[in-house]
Amino acid sequence: MTQEDDEILALLTQEAHKPVQTITSHVPHALPITNAALKKAFTICDVVKDVAGDSHEWFSFLLASKCDSTYTVRDLLIVDGTKAEMGHVAVEGEHVAKAAAEVRKMNEKNGTDLYVIGWLHSHGGGTPFHSTEDAGNFVKVLNSVSLNTEHPVYEELKLIESEVHRELAGGHVIISGQEADDARITFALPETPQLAALLTKYGMHKVPPPEAFVAEMLDIMPMRTEEAIMVGFGYSIVVNDKKDTPYAEIGTVRTKTITGKKDTTTRRTKLKLVPGDLKIDRDELKAMVKARIEFPKRWWKGYHGRTHDDEDFGDIMGWRDYGQYGRTSGKNTWSSFGRGSVVPYSKAPSFVLKKPCTQLDLDELVMVFAHHATMYIQLYAYETIKYTEYMGEVMRSIFRRDYGLTEAIGRAGPLKPDGPLAKVQEPLFGLHNIIKNIADEAPADPEDIERKFMRDFIADENKALETYVPLLIGRYIGQK
Ligand SMILES: [Zn+2]
Repeated sequence: MTQEDDEILALLTQEAHKPVQTITSHVPHALPITNAALKKAFTICDVVKDVAGDSHEWFSFLLASKCDSTYTVRDLLIVDGTKAEMGHVAVEGEHVAKAAAEVRKMNEKNGTDLYVIGWLHSHGGGTPFHSTEDAGNFVKVLNSVSLNTEHPVYEELKLIESEVHRELAGGHVIISGQEADDARITFALPETPQLAALLTKYGMHKVPPPEAFVAEMLDIMPMRTEEAIMVGFGYSIVVNDKKDTPYAEIGTVRTKTITGKKDTTTRRTKLKLVPGDLKIDRDELKAMVKARIEFPKRWWKGYHGRTHDDEDFGDIMGWRDYGQYGRTSGKNTWSSFGRGSVVPYSKAPSFVLKKPCTQLDLDELVMVFAHHATMYIQLYAYETIKYTEYMGEVMRSIFRRDYGLTEAIGRAGPLKPDGPLAKVQEPLFGLHNIIKNIADEAPADPEDIERKFMRDFIADENKALETYVPLLIGRYIGQK
């Protein structure tokens, strides 16, 4: 290489200019929704509770208007045939497709220009947040609805991502990188007569060496390549029956048009309430909920042929219905409930079950208590149940280790609320063994805290656990 070549190379390898700022996208920062649309969601929560008899998780799709550049949620749509369940919500791709089809029909009928921009679901009586299942549902919804808000944005595409190498070869300036997937950019050097003609045109009569000239030109004209990225987004809102502050997320799907790379990200945000009209008629919504939402068959319905309010479940009246079998052998039987789980039940004599809770003798009380405790664990998806895992541990150690109630609680330690995905490790217990172990260890005094705990547990499991667990732990520590 000549000295001239070295100088050219020095010019070629100079730092490129700083890239231009990336263009910002159209994705809103906070999630805009009209007051009326949110009010409709809360009204549906009420109506669902009304129709189903208690809190259920239900879901709907959020609708925005094509002519609205603020991407504000203006209405909700419950797709026909969606399921409301206790403790979870499952959204399938077909629901989203169905929503799109229904919106199309609505638009034709009403002359509107609505489209699906996300989903909203209720946690019934629970706190609004995103469970793992919700995050999965949201991605499914996003895959489809993000196409509705898709818009190209341009971002710098680095043709060469590794260290840039420039060389002169065969009358070309070749710019390349170190990696196999880096691009290779080639500039042909102009022929001297052509270059001379061009320079003359601009009043320059001295023709420079083409290599040096091209190198300097490239240096003052750094090339920037931009890739079109299709950016679409969608919303997720979680509400509850108590009208707590809704939980909101915005998900963004970016698809790079040259490289085909696609990535989905979600972030938590706040609702931005904006004015907006929507007809909200409670009776109409009730008729719609009844027609469109499928509620689960109540677990106890298949068992003894009628339904309860959940208030019944917590007291002796609910128990009475299981007691129709009467005590014949004094043994326990296993029975299957509607959710496919197997629950043991005790054959309680019907006279026991007609007694008020305070008049039960110890054996009777333990029997009813153990039954309630088993149900409490079994129905862990039920929204009012808070300490499934804890109670499961207590019951397992009574069953397996022959502990009494105080010892089982003392060893389990302080009450821990369930995580978002409470699971019972082993839902099956031999109830007779539990009843025997609790009864054998129970204190004789009818006013003892252990007996009070059992009586109160039958009325309100969560409250009894919160009240008595610390007392029973205290006693257990004192006994050691
Ligand atoms: Zn959820």
